[in-house]
Amino acid sequence: MQQRRQLEREFFHGAAVRLVWDVSQEVLDGRLRIGGRAGPVMHIANLCHEMAHFVEIDDSRCGVLGWGLHIRKIWVIDQLCIEPLTHQGTDRECRVAAYQLNLMRHLGLRATPEKLVRPFHYQADWWNVPGGPGDKGRLRWCADQVKALSEKPEYQIDAFTREWWRKNHVLAHRYEALAQRYGS
Ligand SMILES: [Zn+2]
Repeated sequence: MQQRRQLEREFFHGAAVRLVWDVSQEVLDGRLRIGGRAGPVMHIANLCHEMAHFVEIDDSRCGVLGWGLHIRKIWVIDQLCIEPLTHQGTDRECRVAAYQLNLMRHLGLRATPEKLVRPFHYQADWWNVPGGPGDKGRLRWCADQVKALSEKPEYQIDAFTREWWRKNHVLAHRYEALAQRYGS
C-alpha cells in the first residue's frame, strides 16, 4: 500500500497514463490504463512490470492494447508463423525486467533477476533462448541478461523516470489531437 502511494505520487500525478489498480493493461475510450493485475491476482510487482513495458516499448505502441505485442494471436491461422525463429520476445522481457528490477528497488522492495525471470519459460520463443537444453540454463541466461542490463546507466531509475515522462507527453499530445478531431 505504501509503495502504491509512492508510485501514484511520483509517476501518475499529471500523467497521461491512468493507474487503475485492478486492471493489467487496457485501453478504455482510447486511453491507456495500467494496474497491478496478472490473471486473478493483484500485486505491486505486476504494476511495476507494466510501467516497465510502457518505458521499454517504442512510441508508436506505447498507448496500444497489449503493447502491440500479441504476435501469436495475430498469426494463429498461419501455422508456419506460430513458431518464432528468434528470441526477440524474451529479449524484450529481459529489458523490461531490468527496468522493473530498478523500479522495485527504488520502492524499497526486494527483487532479484532470478525471481523476475521465473515466468519466462511461458514465452513463445523459449526454445530459441540460449542456455538450453532445459529451463535451468535458459533461466540462468535470462537472469544474467537482466543483471547486466540493470547495471547500465540507461536502466537506472532516473533514466527510467525521464523516459516515463517523455512518453507521457507523447501520449498526452496524441490524446489532445484526438479530442480536437472528435470535439470531446
Ligand atoms: Zn512482460
